[in-house]
Amino acid sequence: MKLYNTLTRTRDDFVTHEPGKCRMYTCGPTVYHFAHIGNLRTYIMEDVLDKYLRYSGYDVTRCMNITDVGHLTSDADTGEDKMLKGAKREHKTVMEIARFYTDAFFADCAKLNIRKPEIVVPATSYVERFIRMIEVLVDKGYAYLSGGNVYFDTSKLDNYYVFGNQSAEDLAVGVREGVEADDAKRNAADFALWFTKSKFEDQELKWESPWGLGYPGWHIECSAIALENLGEYLDLHCGGVDNAFPHHTNEIAQSEAYVGHPWCSHWFHVLHLNTASGKMSKSSGEFLTLSLLEEKGYDPMVYRLFCLGSHYRKSLVFSWEGMDSTKTAYQKLVARIAALDPEDKTEADPSAVGELKARFAAAMDNDLNTALAVTALYDVLKAKIGDAAKLALIADFDTVLSLNLIPAAQKAREAAKQTEKQTENAAQDGLAVVCLTEGLDDSFTAEVEALIRERADAKKKKDFAEADKIRAHLSEMGVTLKDGKESVSWEKA
Ligand SMILES: [Zn+2]
Repeated sequence: MKLYNTLTRTRDDFVTHEPGKCRMYTCGPTVYHFAHIGNLRTYIMEDVLDKYLRYSGYDVTRCMNITDVGHLTSDADTGEDKMLKGAKREHKTVMEIARFYTDAFFADCAKLNIRKPEIVVPATSYVERFIRMIEVLVDKGYAYLSGGNVYFDTSKLDNYYVFGNQSAEDLAVGVREGVEADDAKRNAADFALWFTKSKFEDQELKWESPWGLGYPGWHIECSAIALENLGEYLDLHCGGVDNAFPHHTNEIAQSEAYVGHPWCSHWFHVLHLNTASGKMSKSSGEFLTLSLLEEKGYDPMVYRLFCLGSHYRKSLVFSWEGMDSTKTAYQKLVARIAALDPEDKTEADPSAVGELKARFAAAMDNDLNTALAVTALYDVLKAKIGDAAKLALIADFDTVLSLNLIPAAQKAREAAKQTEKQTENAAQDGLAVVCLTEGLDDSFTAEVEALIRERADAKKKKDFAEADKIRAHLSEMGVTLKDGKESVSWEKA
């Protein structure tokens, strides 16, 4: 598989330290607010990569952190504590906020079919390990105590700026606009590993450490959690492109200083989701959440398909028009799959099936070209291989794409059967039964309709007592009837 590597700035052959095994790390959310759909784009693309590696035969172990300890509003070491900001806003404790938004994050992930990594570590559960790692860095001479805080000394590394085309002048913390210089640092690019002195005296979570009561810096979190759970050689590290500098750059600095050799061989970064007015961001106030998309009538699968339709290394522009056309495309795709006959016994030509599978794999092997992989689904629908073979291939591709295609098609098939049955019944007794409430359960609808027909039969036989009894029963079920000429419409309260 060819996969772009931010470290080498080329599309590399993806090779792991131990053949067949992939140790994968993902930077998790800072749980002080809901994830916005731009954050979720990153997790969707990482999920596709994770699942495709498994599909290709890798034994993947994936680990993710949850940042539930003071992470500052800017990615530098200054700014306001995000967790504390969330807690103040909602009049809750920091840990209550963390728990609530961790659950909300995984609920969004579940709706988007994003698999939960096997190892999920809240930073607050690892503070002792962060302290141990910082102690080693101090012992090795890579970290120093100054002004009450422990800093990583970036001048001790030959190549600190590993990502992008940053130069020390352009990007060093302290010279960027809006970021304050910290006098305690020896070099502008140095970053804090442990704080005992910070601007905000009301920092809620603090721990004892050899340097005094304080709390860890953000970057140490990912290094310590990854090293502890995935070992000294990491195959794949993922995150949003925002994280490349300084977060990932600092992770590399401290991890390699700690283990004494190259640490992670492959870096996968997903680009931004933009709106017409610019980059989506939580700090700018208004942002789009998955719940908002649902309120507006978009199935989370529509957003997943919207993301898969574009390459992860390109910025994606979000628009409601884009969502509408994706919604139509998704519905049409599901309808075409629903039209396939699962009972079809046509024997499929193995070479034709193999060719379709190869097309899907070629798309994914080409730097995770998900748009082309989705096209491979349409190739399956057009192919002459019989419906059962098509369904099997679609189910196979969907273990990676995770668009719920087979269950959605099954549901559409059942709904069609239901309508067909209603039309048939209407033709038999000349009575049209119309349901005015949307979104009801199929079995409930069938039960109500059967009762309405029984009542109509009773009325025909002039058994009005029986007809009234049925009406009362329906009323208990929350169903109200409106009798028309040759039709009965009903609604559920
Ligand atoms: Zn991280």
